Amino acid sequence: MADAYIALGSNLDNPHEQLDRALESLAQHAAIELIAVSSRYQTPPIGPQQPDFINAAAQLRTTLTPIMLLDALQDIEQQQKRRRSVHWGPRTLDLDILLYDNLVLDSKRLSIPHKLMTERAFVLVPLADIGADLTLPAGETVAQLLANCSQQGIVKLEYGT
Ligand code: ATP
Ligand code: CA
Ligand code: CA
Repeated sequence: MADAYIALGSNLDNPHEQLDRALESLAQHAAIELIAVSSRYQTPPIGPQQPDFINAAAQLRTTLTPIMLLDALQDIEQQQKRRRSVHWGPRTLDLDILLYDNLVLDSKRLSIPHKLMTERAFVLVPLADIGADLTLPAGETVAQLLANCSQQGIVKLEYGT
């Protein structure tokens, strides 16, 4: 069993519903247990001009290997009609693996911890809801990383609370 943390994001076709569906698919997966889900946040987009995102984070317990977990997350993205066109463009659903136990992995398809998580407030703010004290393999806690990045424009939503 591994403890994994993932990021969820959507800015197309009713983002809250996209996140609801993704969380339901994760909870129903035979090899995944959904342990905790953060609040939701409205966050300004990075990359090209596009609608704001709704972001959240979740803690999973799973028997899947990291690559199998990536496959499972990409299946869910595909079920929800994720199209890959513009780099960092708008999307119905983005599911990224942030952490998987204390693993460090850098392969062609998968990097863990997620390469940009340490500088992205839209990832760290939701993650801190469910794991502020989590320590990354390099030794910093989520709370420490968050203290070092701007949270400008990030709004906590009442949805689901
Ligand atoms: P970013 O990586 O900057 O968040 P993105 O989420 O928009 O960008 P995608 O198009 O969703 O990027 O994914 C591109 C590829 O990233 C995926 O096909 C996957 O192989 C790879 N990848 C590498 N590390 C991870 C990870 N930790 N979680 C999810 N995908 C990853
Ligand atoms: Ca992403
Ligand atoms: Ca992604």
